[in-house]
Amino acid sequence: MAWDFSAEPEFQEKLDWIRDFIETEVKPLDVVLAQEEIYRNKSHPAHEHVLRPLQEKVKAQGLWACHLDPALGGQGYGQLKLGLMNEIIGRSVWAPWTFGSQAPDSGNAEIIAHYGTKEQKDEYLQPLLEGRIQSTFSMTEPQSGSDPQEFTCSAVRDGDDWVINGEKYFSSNLRYCKFAIVMVITSPDAPTKNASSMFLVPRDTEGVNIIRNVRLGPETGVEGSHAYVRYENVRVPADHLLGGEGNGFVIAQTRLGGGRLHHAMRTIGVVQRCLDMMCERALSRKSHGELLSQKQMVQDVLATSWIEIQQFRLQVLHAAWTVDQVGGHNARKEIAGVKIATAKICQEVVVRAMRLHGGLGLSNEMPFFDMLQVALAMGVADGASEVHKVTIARKILKDYEPQEGLWPRDHRPSQLDEMRKTHSHLFEYAEMELPV
Ligand SMILES: Cc1cc2nc3c(=O)[nH]c(=O)nc-3n(C[C@H](O)[C@H](O)[C@H](O)COP(=O)(O)OP(=O)(O)OC[C@H]3O[C@@H](n4cnc5c(N)ncnc54)[C@H](O)[C@@H]3O)c2cc1C
Repeated sequence: MAWDFSAEPEFQEKLDWIRDFIETEVKPLDVVLAQEEIYRNKSHPAHEHVLRPLQEKVKAQGLWACHLDPALGGQGYGQLKLGLMNEIIGRSVWAPWTFGSQAPDSGNAEIIAHYGTKEQKDEYLQPLLEGRIQSTFSMTEPQSGSDPQEFTCSAVRDGDDWVINGEKYFSSNLRYCKFAIVMVITSPDAPTKNASSMFLVPRDTEGVNIIRNVRLGPETGVEGSHAYVRYENVRVPADHLLGGEGNGFVIAQTRLGGGRLHHAMRTIGVVQRCLDMMCERALSRKSHGELLSQKQMVQDVLATSWIEIQQFRLQVLHAAWTVDQVGGHNARKEIAGVKIATAKICQEVVVRAMRLHGGLGLSNEMPFFDMLQVALAMGVADGASEVHKVTIARKILKDYEPQEGLWPRDHRPSQLDEMRKTHSHLFEYAEMELPV
C-alpha cells in the first residue's frame, strides 16, 4: 500500500531544520528589511552582508536551490519533497532568496541550463544559481496580455544576429536583472504553437529601453519593479536563441508550469500563517464579554479556513506527486487546478485574517495588505484563473464521449428498460411484498 502522509525520518529532520532556521534567522529580515526594493536589489549591501551568510548555512545543509538537478547544484528532490519544503519557505518573504528558489529566477535557470551554450551558462547560469544576479521573464505584451496568438514583438534574422523589435509589459525585475529571457514572434505565419522563440537578452544590450516601471496599487516608492519595456533594434547573436526556432510556446508552457506549482506550494505557508494568526488573535481578544474564540461565527471562520487549507494542501501535494510521476507536460490539468485554487484560497483566507484583526488587520502594522496584494496578483499573473479553467475543462472533456441516443446514460426509464434485458431476475425482488 503506497499511500503515506508522512515524510521519511531523514527528510523530516531537514524539514524541522528549515522550519526552525526560518523562524529564528530569516524572519527577522522580514521585519527589519521589509521593503521590496531591498530584497529585489542585489546591489543593496544587505545581500552581501546579511543574506549571503544565511545562504551559506542553507548550502551547508544541502538545501540550496533544491528544484535543480544535482548536476546544477541542486538536490533533484522532485516536486513532492519541494512541496513539503516550500510550504515552510512560503511563511517568510525573504526565505525564497535564502533558499535560492525565488521566482522568476528558478524557472529562468532551468531554461538556460537546458538550452544555453557553455559561455552563457558560465556568464549567467552560474551567478544566477549562486544568487549573485537576477533575471527577468519578458513575455506579456501591453495590447495582448499573455495570449501568444496576439503577440507582435518580433525578431528577424540579420546575418549572424537576430534583431528584436516590440514592446513587453509587466517584465518583473527588469531594472534589477542581468539578463531577460524574451519570448518573441519569429514566424508570424506559423500556427501559434510554432510562431515564437525564446531569446536570452543581456540587460545592458543597446535598445532595451524601459519606458516606465509599473507599481502594484498600494506599493510605495517612485518606481515599481514591473517594466513596460520597448525593445528597439535589440541585436543579439544567433546563439542567444534558446531551444531552437519556433519552440518558444512549448518552453514557456514548461517553465510556467513549474513556477505555478511552486507559487502554490509557498501559498500553503502563507495561508497557514494566516490561520496561526487568526487562532492566536481569537484566543487573546475579548469583545462583548467573551473571547473571539468563543463566538460561533468566529469558530466558523476558523473551521472553514482549516478545512479549506487541508483540501488545498492535499491538492497541491497531489499535483506535485503527479508531476513526479508523469512530468509537468502531462500534469497540466493538475497544475492549472492548483493555480486557480491558489489565488482563491489566498484571497479568502487573507481577507478573513484581516477582518478578524479588525482595524489593526487593515493597518500597516500587520502584513495582511501585502499578502492580499500578492493574493490578487496570483489570480492574474501567469495567466488569469479563467484561462486556466478553460484548460481544465478541455482536458476533462477529452476523457468523455458524447451520449448516443436521446436520453442521458443515467436516465432512469432507459436504465430500467436495459436492466429488464440484462438483469431480469432483480425485478422479481423489486416486486416482492415488503416483509412486515
Ligand atoms: C504582479 C505581476 C507580475 C507579473 N510578472 C510578469 C513577468 O515577469 N513577465 C511577464 O511576461 N508577465 C508578467 N505579468 C503579466 C501577467 O502574466 C498577465 O497580467 C497575465 O497573463 C494576464 O494578462 P493580462 O493582464 O493582459 O489580462 P487579460 O488577458 O487582458 O485578462 C483580463 C481578464 O479578462 C478575463 N479573461 C481573459 N481571458 C479569458 C478567458 N479565456 N475566458 C474568460 N475570461 C477571460 C479574466 O477576467 C482576466 O482576468 C505579471 C503580472 C502581475 C500582476
